[in-house]
Amino acid sequence: MLTATTPEDDGDPDLLHVLTVPVRDGCDYGRSVAEQTSEPLRAETFVVTAGRPARSPDAPLNTPIVPASSFIAGGPMEYAREDSPSASALEEVIGGLEGGAATVFSSGMAAAGAAMDLVPPGAIVVAPSAAYTGVAVRLRELDSIGRIRLRIVDVDSTAAVVDACDGAHLLWLESPTNPLLQVADLPACIDAAHTAGALALVDNTFATPMLQRPLQDGADIVLHSVTKALSGHSDLLMGALVARDAELAERIRLRRVLLGGSTSAFDCYLALRGIRTLALRIDKAQSSARTIADRLNGHPALSRVRYPGFGTIAAIEVAGGPAAADAVCRLTSIWTHATSLGGVESLLERRRRWALESTTVPESLIRLSFGIEHADDLWADLSGALDASLRDA
Ligand SMILES: *Cc1c(COP(=O)(O)O)cnc(C)c1O
Repeated sequence: MLTATTPEDDGDPDLLHVLTVPVRDGCDYGRSVAEQTSEPLRAETFVVTAGRPARSPDAPLNTPIVPASSFIAGGPMEYAREDSPSASALEEVIGGLEGGAATVFSSGMAAAGAAMDLVPPGAIVVAPSAAYTGVAVRLRELDSIGRIRLRIVDVDSTAAVVDACDGAHLLWLESPTNPLLQVADLPACIDAAHTAGALALVDNTFATPMLQRPLQDGADIVLHSVTKALSGHSDLLMGALVARDAELAERIRLRRVLLGGSTSAFDCYLALRGIRTLALRIDKAQSSARTIADRLNGHPALSRVRYPGFGTIAAIEVAGGPAAADAVCRLTSIWTHATSLGGVESLLERRRRWALESTTVPESLIRLSFGIEHADDLWADLSGALDASLRDA
């Protein structure tokens, strides 16, 4: 399994992303057999070059889609719930980007469920007050049946997180959080978890490894909804867990084998194809998010703009309330009113339209997921809808 070299912090922020690319032996499209390291690579290069077959005459550039549930005995694959060539290639890329060993799952929630399964019965789990809805609801369910004991914190209150970690088994962090965009002090929170002997998990779906690599801050596990920015085209569901150490990675892989949340070869191919442009997409979407969050500040239709200063997601609170927010979502033509985020197309959504969304999320909050369209077109469309919502009010 691929492991990235430890990045050297020499003051150049680019070099926080120094990785090495694995070179596969012969025509084995499976788990890498040889890991010859070449020159250290930046993430932008690694994401393009990793997870490919070895360079030999007539080898394909891309890892082929292998539609097989079972593999001829004697090798490391055996059965597709355990491993498959397409999953393995994608895991090389995601694992290398985050600096650990990745296991892909059939959705972000399948990955989350597998992570929740790692703690012993009755374990104390510290989790954000407004985590991803599915995660928050599932943790509350597990608490209500006595499987875990849940402690809820605001992740941007480091003192509260540190206090809550006392006696805990697992610290579950999201940063920035979905959809309130609260930012946690990752090194301090992870330290507190480790002092308490707890595992620290960070859902890195919003930031992506292009902007934040929690394993470097000491986290034990990184969670991704690969559905979002990593695959980037809103055409598949997938999740991933990346573990810093090999023993934990094996426990995680066993969760996939036993719980069955494995991926299809075709979806892995699509995700691998999508992730090649991750650096470009994040760069473009983040630049638009920064520009537009700035222009939205002080807009008369809004009572609050939330943007943590980085990333591709923002949230706005419409001063006219939920009905006015719904109107904004109806009035855009480039921005699409739909759930999810991280795709090439810009999406907006009033989150409280979901009955299960946390009541700590304001009724009039609209989450904005920036795509890769031109920022001026996105601005014209959104500001036009906001202006119209004011006129109609
Ligand atoms: C979407 C999402 C998930 C769940 O992932 P699915 O692929 O939809 O199952 C988990 N965490 C965050 C932060 C998300 O945005």
